Amino acid sequence: MALPLIPTAVVGSHGRPGWWFSGVKSLERGEFGPGDLEEMLDDAADTAIRDMEQAGIDIITDGEVRRLDGYVDSYYAIIEGIRPIPVRRKAGPWGYDQQTRYEAVGRIQAPSGGLGIVKEFEYLRKRTARHTKATCAGPLTFGSRIHPGTVYKGVVDVAERFADVVNEELRGLVAAGADLIQIDEPARGNVSGAEMARLFNRATDGIKATLALHVCFGNRFGRSRFPRTYAPYFPGLLEARADQFVLEFAGREMSELDLWKRYGEGRDLGAGVVDVKGFHQDTPEDVAARIRRVLEVCRADKLSVNPDCGFGWSPRAMCNQKLRALAAGAALVRHELGTGR
Ligand SMILES: [Zn+2]
Repeated sequence: MALPLIPTAVVGSHGRPGWWFSGVKSLERGEFGPGDLEEMLDDAADTAIRDMEQAGIDIITDGEVRRLDGYVDSYYAIIEGIRPIPVRRKAGPWGYDQQTRYEAVGRIQAPSGGLGIVKEFEYLRKRTARHTKATCAGPLTFGSRIHPGTVYKGVVDVAERFADVVNEELRGLVAAGADLIQIDEPARGNVSGAEMARLFNRATDGIKATLALHVCFGNRFGRSRFPRTYAPYFPGLLEARADQFVLEFAGREMSELDLWKRYGEGRDLGAGVVDVKGFHQDTPEDVAARIRRVLEVCRADKLSVNPDCGFGWSPRAMCNQKLRALAAGAALVRHELGTGR
């Protein structure tokens, strides 16, 4: 199935059903065996896939429903060579300071079977005829909560090690048939755009797929983690051999589109036109208005549209409402451009 002009995509995670959370609690209480967990996660992936298909999204994922505990925490649980550091603040309102941090105590490596992303993708491919996107945390994301300890020289050294771990996983994804792979990196401000690009290029070295780079402001519990500006990363970030940049705009009232006008030439843009952090309902007309703004700085044939970020912290109903608005809003704009669907 050929993609339409201005295809719709998701950034990664899907709003998980209530029973997913009940299942995870059952697992934690020891009431689920591995077979129960696998059955629940297969069902959750099927649900996410069906939701995205029914909303009319063109490029879908498995909803990242198998990543049990936040975005990288489930990997920290299996990565070798790190150990958790006690959390200093446990009481009170949730904050990023309550996330478990780690320290490198040996050579960082993935377990022998890899990070599990290949298996996620293989399942997705079997279950849908739609175009798919595989997503993988980038080297800086993986390294973000790991103190270098005495094993590594600093955060960049840790990230370089993860670039090689990620590269191995991406090779497996390509072998499994992934043709669009997105790397997610944080707009943390601790490295320059050029450094982020260098690490992206190392992680994707030799990877024969369309490569996307999502630069993320953080989204846990719908809360941003970093200053919401991309300006400090340009133009250095353009050194990344990414075919597409996936950027947040809707939650920032479409600010910084001028950056794309100045620097976006020749690249594809995955523009965030749905605010995943706001609980309000988006209408198709809201989405269409945002897409029209993006078209002032990006050619239609270079544009795809997506939510700003994943829906991992959004209730499923809210997520589905926003996905339907995304698909309907893109259809409105296509109609105006005379391409229909
Ligand atoms: Zn994000």
